[in-house]
Amino acid sequence: MKRINVTKTFLPPIEEYQSYLDSIWSSSQLTNQGPLLLEFEEKTKEYLGLKNLQAVANGTLALQLAIRALDLGEGEIITTPFSYVATTSAILWEHFTPVFVDIDRTNFCLDANKIERAITDKTKAIMPVHVFGLPCNVEEIDQIAKKHNLKVIYDGAHAFGVKYRGKSLLDYGDISTCSFHATKLFHTIEGGAAISNNEEINRKVDLQKRFGHHGDEHIMLGINAKLTEFQAAMGLCNLKYIDENINKRKQLYNLYSKLLAGRFEVPTISADTIYNYGYYPVLAENEKQLTQLIDKLGHKEIYPRRYFYPSLNNLPYIDKRQKCPVSEDIASRIMCLPLYADLEEQSVEEICEALK
Ligand SMILES: *Cc1c(COP(=O)(O)O)cnc(C)c1O
Repeated sequence: MKRINVTKTFLPPIEEYQSYLDSIWSSSQLTNQGPLLLEFEEKTKEYLGLKNLQAVANGTLALQLAIRALDLGEGEIITTPFSYVATTSAILWEHFTPVFVDIDRTNFCLDANKIERAITDKTKAIMPVHVFGLPCNVEEIDQIAKKHNLKVIYDGAHAFGVKYRGKSLLDYGDISTCSFHATKLFHTIEGGAAISNNEEINRKVDLQKRFGHHGDEHIMLGINAKLTEFQAAMGLCNLKYIDENINKRKQLYNLYSKLLAGRFEVPTISADTIYNYGYYPVLAENEKQLTQLIDKLGHKEIYPRRYFYPSLNNLPYIDKRQKCPVSEDIASRIMCLPLYADLEEQSVEEICEALK
């Protein structure tokens, strides 16, 4: 049997990428706000129904630029322990202290009911994650932020194409970010984006992502977070297939749900969400059962992943230990099953058979 991983990067027909390479060869512009980058930003905005979007080098720098663009000074950022490590590392890299608030059992996102008791006079922002593309309780979070004069940065790394209450899930908060990494639903090889409807924030992200200057006029401290023409070209190719890919994932997702009905706890997708079918997470009864299942599948060359493990409050470089029992419990027994556009239905059947 062929090895099946948790995900497989979608690649467009090579001729379509080649035709963009031809255009790069004729313009000789490889990076720096080139024509393909601008076209990619326009088409992505159009696809997602967003007014603003800036493409950047990756989803991690998008988070760092988001923190910078909000001018938060110094202090604490309330965040979720149930995410990929980049959510926490971006906070630390920008010299803020992450304060972990536990997650909600139903959507695995930051529990809005527990945010207020974690707010101190040092709190500057809240950075929740729409983990697996499942929407956070955005209204409650927004209300709490307004009441306490805090900024909200959504890590929307998994939220590409998700719609919540009629608009893109990336259109919430003071600023949202996305990742276009090759392992994500939609990719530009490496890449990411920052999305905000605040002009001043957008101006800062724009300057900071390209060294903070226009010509000889140096305006603010910047960094290099540019997306190249080659990456924009990949994005343009992939945009053409995104609806088809989401649709294929949806069929497979529904097949998993049918075949595994009642066997595992799975998150529920609320009625006001149009989901992107980015992940198929399942919860085992406990960590022992989880590792047994992973072993069993491994013998058949099927490789699910323990997304997300460990719970980030237990990272070795977090000094102040903070307990997050729900996140620690979920992280200890969750895995994502293989899900990608050209996974065969027969493979899903085999995976479900093996799990049973
Ligand atoms: C992938 C990911 C990131 C980082 O994105 P990169 O593009 O890989 O830098 C950040 N947050 C979450 C939740 C992610 O899954």
